[in-house]
Amino acid sequence: MQLPYSESYKIKMVETIRKSTRGEREKWIRDARYNLFNLNSDQVFIDLLTDSGTGAMSDIQWSEMLLGDESYAGARSYYKMKSAIKDIFGFDYFLPTHQGRAAENVLFSTLVKEGDVVPGNSHFDTTKGHIELRKAIPIDCTIDEAFDTELIHPFKGNVNLDKLEEVLKSNRAENIPFIVITVTCNSSGGQPVSMKNLRDIYSLAQKYHIKVLFDAARFAENAYFIKKREEGYQDKTIGEIVAEMFGYADMMTMSCKKDAIVNIGGFIALRDEELFKRASVYNILFEGFITYGGMSGRDLSAVAQGLYEGTDFNYLETRIKQVEYLGGKLIDAGVPIQMPIGGHAVFVDAKRFLTKVPKEEFQAQTLAVELYIESGVRSVEIGTLLADRDPVSRENRFPDLEFLRLAIPRRVYTNNHMDVVAVALINVWERRNSITHGFKIISEAPILRHFTVELDRV
Ligand SMILES: *Cc1c(COP(=O)(O)O)cnc(C)c1O
Repeated sequence: MQLPYSESYKIKMVETIRKSTRGEREKWIRDARYNLFNLNSDQVFIDLLTDSGTGAMSDIQWSEMLLGDESYAGARSYYKMKSAIKDIFGFDYFLPTHQGRAAENVLFSTLVKEGDVVPGNSHFDTTKGHIELRKAIPIDCTIDEAFDTELIHPFKGNVNLDKLEEVLKSNRAENIPFIVITVTCNSSGGQPVSMKNLRDIYSLAQKYHIKVLFDAARFAENAYFIKKREEGYQDKTIGEIVAEMFGYADMMTMSCKKDAIVNIGGFIALRDEELFKRASVYNILFEGFITYGGMSGRDLSAVAQGLYEGTDFNYLETRIKQVEYLGGKLIDAGVPIQMPIGGHAVFVDAKRFLTKVPKEEFQAQTLAVELYIESGVRSVEIGTLLADRDPVSRENRFPDLEFLRLAIPRRVYTNNHMDVVAVALINVWERRNSITHGFKIISEAPILRHFTVELDRV
């Protein structure tokens, strides 16, 4: 008999989590104004709000923390991280930042100006926010297949090259600071981009003299999918695939809180020395000196080690198989989810789940509240609340995809936890037709409103 699949690590330290009663949760979520970001973490049993900064570091990463060099300038930890970035991605220059959006802030301050357009594949919310804050316009060129949640396509993060070329043709090059490619594409469901698509985007960009930026938070998961799904990559190592991927980029921003498996950290990496010098000015202003940029030395060291662990095939297989395990349980019960299952999360199609709730009443948010009350599982809305209002008309934007995201922290929960999540959601599925109303907004911020929005039941 073939040996069954299992985790590529064992557990050395544990943290107790607390179950609560339905009555407690009904009160807590009401007090939190039906915004799951407002819950106290002790009010959560299984926390699938995000996979960002919630992973478990390894024994080697914790050892690296003790080896961290806290020198203000030129710390050994900085050189460790610099050498890992050169080794893994091939970039000569890098700037540490305290997290991914800080990398965006620094780089976009250098490159993006009012009236610019920034084409890409379903920009991440902070990326979109940093573009719109500068009065520039993100243009989504994702393939149409990504918006049909039932359709199986191996690379739903791909860019439609015709849509992209249209943008490149109809705007002046000086108004396109870069094309941003998110690997894997979070907003369309943790979906990967194929190597062929990355190659084609890069050659199109070169034809129009436009730079390509990778938003690389989940680059290693993307590489895993290329190995598993793309012709010709089965026998390549994750390291080889990553090296080829980044050969099709001029620069990258990364949230290390994802595939570098640390609790905080980020960076920008580049090939162009001139651009590095310009961005360094903003890095010093916003983040700190260029050899620490908002991170402590120990954090830089943990990132350097985490980048290697995050690109280990056995680790990646453990991770992605766990996400598949949860997704598989939901599929078996008929729960509508984005197919195929993504890298870091299962995305539940709230439009097909809560068909009786009008879209103006925030279907995915309604589902997130129901799931929390059912079980203490915290998930997150990736839908109308997240999409914000149109910056010009101030009307709600109703995105094509209205998701409830179950994001799985790295190396944190076991498959028994996944069983609890699956049963809880299936229980809600079974009573879905009794859920006919959602929520209305009581107060909201002008940008990135989902973090602080306050809601009440309709
Ligand atoms: C998380 C993330 C960011 C922002 O990074 P933070 O570390 O949360 O600031 C940017 N892009 C993508 C694709 C992300 O997943």
